[in-house]
Amino acid sequence: MGCDGKGSFVMKKNDALRGQRAARRRWIAAAGLWLAAAGLVFWARRDPSGVARVFVPWARRAQGALSHAAVAPFPLTECLAYALAAAAPAALVVTAVRSVRGRSGRPALRFLSHAALWAGALACLFLSLWGLGAFAPPLANRLALDTAPASAQTLYDTAVWLRDEMNALAGQVPRGADGACAGGFDALAGQAGDGFRHLAARVPGAFEGAPAAPKRVIGAGLLSRLGLSGVYSPFLGEAMVNPDTIPAHLPFTMCHEMAHGMGYVSEDEANYIAFLACTANPDPLFAYSGYHLAFIYCANALGAADAALSARLWEDVSPLAHADFDAQRAYLKRHEGPARAVGEAVNDAYLRTMNQPEGTRSYGRVVDLLIADYRARTM
Ligand SMILES: [Zn+2]
Repeated sequence: MGCDGKGSFVMKKNDALRGQRAARRRWIAAAGLWLAAAGLVFWARRDPSGVARVFVPWARRAQGALSHAAVAPFPLTECLAYALAAAAPAALVVTAVRSVRGRSGRPALRFLSHAALWAGALACLFLSLWGLGAFAPPLANRLALDTAPASAQTLYDTAVWLRDEMNALAGQVPRGADGACAGGFDALAGQAGDGFRHLAARVPGAFEGAPAAPKRVIGAGLLSRLGLSGVYSPFLGEAMVNPDTIPAHLPFTMCHEMAHGMGYVSEDEANYIAFLACTANPDPLFAYSGYHLAFIYCANALGAADAALSARLWEDVSPLAHADFDAQRAYLKRHEGPARAVGEAVNDAYLRTMNQPEGTRSYGRVVDLLIADYRARTM
């Protein structure tokens, strides 16, 4: 069927009107989604015990179901993130060209309406599947742990306990020619759930429902340069771990990401649960990894608090454990560069929005929980 010039003009006008109406609907839907996200955060801030009672068990079930459903052996979230990273600049360029050619801001507004709608949908999904857990009361309350401020002496005593356990295990783990720990990613990933199962039997109510095994990230080099050993995706319940992490720290990192998958959002709690799951694991490499990283956190805190006690602490560190400190230093040196500062800044900003005002320093707050654990053991 033919159509004269006037008809074509009318059709174009109708198309433009339809486009404007669709964009308006997207803006309204996006506003609704962002309001819903704000409402969820408002509720969680006002009712932390409700979050613990209602939301955390739901999030743990949802994350467990997602992690067991995401059967692909590679991280789907990472693939989607790369696809988005490639598509977003391309869409921006197309929008800019259309805006310049048509001498109109409408393509840009249309693009923004799509972006606002998708971002709102992702924010709602993120919060309702996992993120609201950031507002739950501290795990220390539930486990009746005493996290009162500690003296440098108590911190030293805690670090000595961790050091001695680390030293005792250092000779029981497989080691390579350089003396550092050795362990394959897939075998360790397959064993990571064992510690959680032992932990759930020992502490009922807090650690049931271990998520599926962690997955190796595809862009390991990129993550190493960004200073990231793992990332958790609550959209698909994927615990993604950087396989370039030194073997002495791989089990701890795997358990840290899996702890996120059990609904624990804050970094100090994920670190503490990783310590508990590692030290409950029958494999000595897991236990060694738990004590090695817990020792590092406490030794760093003691170094800042009391130089004399810190020097005394390091005097009796086993040479085998030192081989793993050397391996970690070599790993960091291999991947140093400006990208690490960018990775840290992004992670810091993300954590601050997630109700963790200390940003990346909140990882180190695991020291309070380790001291409380030491107090509970020695009382
Ligand atoms: Zn984490």
